[in-house]
Amino acid sequence: MAIESTRTSDAVRHLDASLEEDLDTLRNEGLFRPLRVLESPQMAEVVVGGRRLINLSSNNYLGLNTHPRLIEAAVRGASEWGAGSGAVRTIAGTQSIHEELEARLAAFKHTEAALCFQSGYTVNVGVIGSMLESGDCVVSDKLNHASIIDGIRLTKADRILYEHVDVDDAERALKEARDKGYRRVLLITDGVFSMDGDIAPLPDLVERAEKYEAAVMVDDAHGTGVLGRNGRGSTDHFNLHGRVALNIGTLSKAVGVVGGYVAASQTVRDHLIHKARPFLFSSSHPAAVVLACIAAIDVLEQEPELIERLWVNARYLKKGLAELGFDIGHSETPITPVMCGEAPQAMALSDALLEHGVFAQAIGFPTVARGRARVRTIVTATHTTAQLDDALAAFGACGPAIGLL
Ligand SMILES: *Cc1c(COP(=O)(O)O)cnc(C)c1O
Repeated sequence: MAIESTRTSDAVRHLDASLEEDLDTLRNEGLFRPLRVLESPQMAEVVVGGRRLINLSSNNYLGLNTHPRLIEAAVRGASEWGAGSGAVRTIAGTQSIHEELEARLAAFKHTEAALCFQSGYTVNVGVIGSMLESGDCVVSDKLNHASIIDGIRLTKADRILYEHVDVDDAERALKEARDKGYRRVLLITDGVFSMDGDIAPLPDLVERAEKYEAAVMVDDAHGTGVLGRNGRGSTDHFNLHGRVALNIGTLSKAVGVVGGYVAASQTVRDHLIHKARPFLFSSSHPAAVVLACIAAIDVLEQEPELIERLWVNARYLKKGLAELGFDIGHSETPITPVMCGEAPQAMALSDALLEHGVFAQAIGFPTVARGRARVRTIVTATHTTAQLDDALAAFGACGPAIGLL
């Protein structure tokens, strides 16, 4: 909140005026959005502006953020280990529970080792930024997540993009990289693409990468907890254990807490501990986070019915939206986009849904390409069929009202 009595300098006001020009551009394009404030926990229903809404906007696939076992673990973590970790990992911020979580993640992902970072974003920036140098090359899907793109921006490595999920174009890129004789070539793909919900053709990508002696990195932020046995992710879904060099994951989505990790060889872990800048220069997670993540792995291993329920709900919502006549793209996972064209139309749909008791956020440029704006929905295991029916009724009322159907 602005404090009116404070006098701001010309320099401060000049910066604001210049930034307002950028914001005006967003306003003119219909891309300016205030943050939506939730007045409740992130659950199947949330309270926004004092109203209860059916929530189709979270990445909380399994409802683990409010699972009693995670909450109990978080409370125990804080009371037994304190509120903060007090240091970066390499100085004094590694506690036995951090090592325990990593051992659990490695076992879960069937890899030798794992290493945690503060978020999925920092793990991508840290891994890509530290592992590749001048003389190396990244081969990357054009629709990879922003955190991968930012990691690539930080390296002096060359980059060759391939068309989204196009295995033959990936092969073209891999061949080009091999022929140029780089030291390290790393093919990077999302396991599940976060905006469209399609699954990367991993068996073919891995096979082509092996043919051209490139290593593969899969960012399974939306695959973990969703695909594979007990939610082990897309590498497990396709039974590619031992052939994906770097399995990236987030602890912030289906796992229900916050953080990121890479599951890989012991050599990769040792390398990152010495080279990855977010690991070296940013503090480790508090124990509440760490113990809640360990509890989440227990839940994934012991309550697979949550994942079954997630898929039942996902199929139900997809079928209902398609029957209403919406274009829901080509998702293969619980991520279900409702395609709207330009951003203002997506925002109109989102606003109309809000009026009808459904919280489903519009997503426009730059998160997705211009002309590909959408309302992205993600159901969770914790939605009831009655809630999904209500949500579908709201979509059915709003689609025609904004001229989309
Ligand atoms: C969400 C996401 C991330 C970032 O994870 P955070 O833990 O939220 O930082 C990274 N990669 C992909 C593909 C994602 O969808």
